[in-house]
Amino acid sequence: MCDRDTLAELINLHQPAARGFWCSCGEALDCHIDQHRAAVVIAAGWRPPARRIETPAELDALPEGAVVRTAEGRIAEKTCHYGAADRHGFRSDWAETQDDDIPIGTDELDDLPAIVLWEPEEVTSGE
Ligand SMILES: [Zn+2]
Repeated sequence: MCDRDTLAELINLHQPAARGFWCSCGEALDCHIDQHRAAVVIAAGWRPPARRIETPAELDALPEGAVVRTAEGRIAEKTCHYGAADRHGFRSDWAETQDDDIPIGTDELDDLPAIVLWEPEEVTSGE
């Protein structure tokens, strides 16, 4: 079965029932059926396409821990964000997987565009 058919089958398993208060899967609906279906699809592992980073400012806007792959195949993890530029003009430090000795600044990840391989969820208190 192709991905499209698998996804369509998964979505089709969730139909509004009992005037929209319940889903055919047996779960009470506390949201719109489309939002419930989206939650089911995300829980099944679907992810949106990788974010594409076009500018240094977009790199700087990523949270610490984000991992990118640049146009030339360099993999780097954002290790620190200063907020304001430091004396070298850097707003962020990145650790390249190929060279873990010295952090580099955002301006040294100059082979954009890059794609975001991983981005940490926003941290909520109490977890
Ligand atoms: Zn359901």
